[in-house]
Amino acid sequence: MAMIFYRDMELICRSCGATFIFTAGEQEFYADKGFLNEPTRCPKCRNRREAQTARRRPEPSPEDDNDE
Ligand SMILES: [Zn+2]
Repeated sequence: MAMIFYRDMELICRSCGATFIFTAGEQEFYADKGFLNEPTRCPKCRNRREAQTARRRPEPSPEDDNDE
């Protein structure tokens, strides 16, 4: 199995424009879950969005960005 090393990434939230860190740990978590795309929203916006979509979406979907 190949070793993958993650580094913290600085990303811009496309929702509020804030800079946020996509940490190595989060990247590892995403990869483990099979998420291929990096988040496009800061944790604050993501949480707000997840709270809104939780009722109709049983599975966590951090990158459901095509429905705006
Ligand atoms: Zn944001």
